[in-house]
Amino acid sequence: MEKHILSKSTFLRGLQCSKSLYLYKYFIQKRDSISTEQQAIFNRGNNVGLLAQKLFPGGVDATPAKRSNNIEAVEKTKKLIESGVEVIYEAAFQHNQVLAILDILVKKDNEWYAYEVKSSTKISPTYLLDASLQYWVISNSGIPLKDISLIIINNQYLRSGDVDLKGLFSIKSVLKNALENQELVEENINSSMSVVNTAVEPDVKIGEHCFSPYNCDFMGNCWKSVPQNSIFEITGVKKTELFDLYNKGYKTIDQIPEINELDKNVNIHIQAIKKNEAHIDKSAINIFLEKIKYPVFFMDFETFMPAIPLYEKTKPYQHIPFQYSLHYKKDKNSELEHFEFLADQHTDPRKSFVEALLKDTESAGTILVYDILMERNVLNGLKKDFPEYSSEIDIRLSRMVDLVQPFQERSYYHPAMKNSFSIKNVLPALVPELSYSNLKIASGSVAMIAFENLSKETDMFRALETREQLLEYCKLDTLAMVKIFEVLEGVG
Ligand code: SF4
Repeated sequence: MEKHILSKSTFLRGLQCSKSLYLYKYFIQKRDSISTEQQAIFNRGNNVGLLAQKLFPGGVDATPAKRSNNIEAVEKTKKLIESGVEVIYEAAFQHNQVLAILDILVKKDNEWYAYEVKSSTKISPTYLLDASLQYWVISNSGIPLKDISLIIINNQYLRSGDVDLKGLFSIKSVLKNALENQELVEENINSSMSVVNTAVEPDVKIGEHCFSPYNCDFMGNCWKSVPQNSIFEITGVKKTELFDLYNKGYKTIDQIPEINELDKNVNIHIQAIKKNEAHIDKSAINIFLEKIKYPVFFMDFETFMPAIPLYEKTKPYQHIPFQYSLHYKKDKNSELEHFEFLADQHTDPRKSFVEALLKDTESAGTILVYDILMERNVLNGLKKDFPEYSSEIDIRLSRMVDLVQPFQERSYYHPAMKNSFSIKNVLPALVPELSYSNLKIASGSVAMIAFENLSKETDMFRALETREQLLEYCKLDTLAMVKIFEVLEGVG
């Protein structure tokens, strides 16, 4: 058997952009390096696939001794089928040098059924194409499929006792889509094969396809001629409009004409870049500051979202709060105080979290948060989970004010914010001496995965180190809020 040329992932890559497929095959070294955040997400290794196998117990795994030996996997699968095995995990097939590895293959009443597991709660167009390719390879390699299905997570499932697999997973047949897509699959296999076989770099210009369905990992290569302050730094405008402007010759923000159809906030960004100075609406900032009464709490939560509910009465991907940081100022000139909470990684953190938080925020005063949605949702969720704390939580909710407001409304806008109001963009623009860059954990998504992995950490010292890093990160989030607030007070 010849080695495969295309796999499921290279097929999907070719569908997004033929140049991406070419670069991946011949110039993999040009691929962008993976950020710590992406690495943490890749490493998350949730056990959704393994758990879904239990829906069809007693199967045999066709994974070869050396994982990358796909020829062995295909041969092993063939032997398992011939020997009468009726449930095969990681079944591998190859047809015309296209490889497909299927999560679960099942034989029932002498018919074959294919199942592909996704840890998502929705079926995306990419998943349908992925299943269509699997169908093409498997059926052409001599296994007629009676049906092909996606196993996804049911986001309405509420855990009660042990995980109920039939409640947690939804099985959706995608046979109709797979059959409809067979011609398209074949055409794209042919065009991708020709890209790989001719080995000539396709002439593809940058465009919306660089972002859809995924951000391409060759942007560092193809976008290197896009200048600083390019119009693509503008957010809140459709990509189509930006590419229209770019193709008309407006490469940088300062080249955009004074009179244009873009919205008010985008124009504030453009003017700030052109003048290279901050836009400050003092009266709007004063109106915002009037809402805030000392003492002031600066509050930030961290949550994690396990795909498989870990605790009683929780749903898949529910935000589970495990940590908070609180800075506290009695009045404008008083010393800064700090309170924090980080749950034990081995137990349900929700009750200890809410009890500690209510105690630490007992005294009166405004509670400042940055981008209120998450904190508000978490507190509303805790009200449902622990109704006995409902009225106390309501009091905290009524005291909350969102520090993002003056930035979101562009009352304070600095060109270095790059048209974003995320704290990670606002902080370096307003308080450049304070930075996340030296932290091992430097974003909410890395914190989320770090805590999720903590319960599996067997090295006590590594666990303690991660806990220190989590505390440091969350503390910096609220310290950043203190410093940003001081800048606003200085203006008002
Ligand atoms: S960055 Fe855009 S043009 Fe370049 S390979 Fe990726 S998708 Fe294609």
